[in-house]
Amino acid sequence: MTEVQLQEIKLDPDSELRFEVETKNEKVVLEVKSGYAELFGTELVKGKPYEFHTGAKVAVFTWHGCTVELRGRTEVSYVAKETPMVVYLNVHAALEQQRVAAEHENTRGPVTMVVGPGDVGKSTLTKILLNYAVRMGRRPIFVDLDVGQGHISVPGTIGALLVERPASIEEGFSQQAPLVYHFGHKSPGDNLELYNMIVSRLAEVIAERCENNKKASTSGVIINTCGWVKGTGYKVLTHAAQAFEVDVILVLDNERLYNELKRDMPKFVKVVYLPKSGGVVERSSTQRAEARDARIREYFYGNRTPYYPHSFDVKFSDLKIYKVGAPSLPDSCMPLGMRSSDALTRLVPAWPSPSLAHRVLAVSFAPSPDDHVLATNLAGFVCVTAVDMDRQTMTILSPQPRPLPDTVLLLSDLQYMDNH
Ligand code: ADP
Repeated sequence: MTEVQLQEIKLDPDSELRFEVETKNEKVVLEVKSGYAELFGTELVKGKPYEFHTGAKVAVFTWHGCTVELRGRTEVSYVAKETPMVVYLNVHAALEQQRVAAEHENTRGPVTMVVGPGDVGKSTLTKILLNYAVRMGRRPIFVDLDVGQGHISVPGTIGALLVERPASIEEGFSQQAPLVYHFGHKSPGDNLELYNMIVSRLAEVIAERCENNKKASTSGVIINTCGWVKGTGYKVLTHAAQAFEVDVILVLDNERLYNELKRDMPKFVKVVYLPKSGGVVERSSTQRAEARDARIREYFYGNRTPYYPHSFDVKFSDLKIYKVGAPSLPDSCMPLGMRSSDALTRLVPAWPSPSLAHRVLAVSFAPSPDDHVLATNLAGFVCVTAVDMDRQTMTILSPQPRPLPDTVLLLSDLQYMDNH
């Protein structure tokens, strides 16, 4: 453990300062004193203090050299001269060429999918490429299929966002009007049928939107994926590639996956192998769970701008809670014309019980369970903080004041303990 109270660090061109904040309730402040630096593709403003809190793992990269000041205690902090940033910049340049061609020929810009095992920097590369694109005046679409972390909304969902400005250092990409679909589990394997269905739906909606937004269409799409790449996980990836009709697949740090994709993808799909950054930090399952928890807390309580969620009681009889997936029966026991896999995407009422305590519920825009609920964008989320079986009520934590909209609520496996 290194104690750093105040440190001035000089960075040579093409190098990066990496640091982690681990201690609970610790805060580290970073400031660029001279020169230019960026953080995962977002330019840092000279003289502006940026705060980093517990769990932050960051790299401040400079193309031309700079001096930065670091205040506070970091667990790890070192300067790395070897980074794959030049390779990543070349990828950006190649995508940019395709965008220029799309503009001239009035066609679609590149649809790029980033794949690789867990903790290789997929989300980070996605962010860098989106930031570089938007800094060139593009308006790319960010798609996140990683239900385990949920970078656009809360974990257990997939979503898309039109990126109109670089990610803010503290708060990430601006969350205006994201498209979000309910999955309700941490891994695609928990309900493959549902996962593939919502991935296809999201791809379809994005294709429709691109038809009406030429700027977004020529800017293209960048898709972040889950780190599950073997066996069925591989099939999930190839399904997503097909659904989004990807043009480019960037494979981070896994030769086997690269070779499999080269073999199986149609010839017009460019499969590119990329090295991972030595700075990417592996996370334990506890750290992943903490990150999931932090995402949900951020949804209700905000990050830099604090939100003030509401808490109120609702009668069981006023709620329409459903879970996705009926217990599956063999095909021979299914009603005529139905397959057992259909059951996995069916809505079944979830009866109020104490086991609903601390569960996240997705609030659908669909008013009734017959209204294509799973193909409908989500309005938001609430969390059940307590269940009172005697009074037949639930206490709900919600970003909106009461009443809850008269819509379908979808039960998620994800839990959140509200001890704010
Ligand atoms: P994946 O999406 O493949 O699981 P991430 O992109 O989320 O991986 O990276 C894992 C962690 O490593 C994140 O906390 C990220 O901030 C951190 N990280 C990524 N690149 C670097 C780097 N060059 N230096 C320091 N930390 C990094």
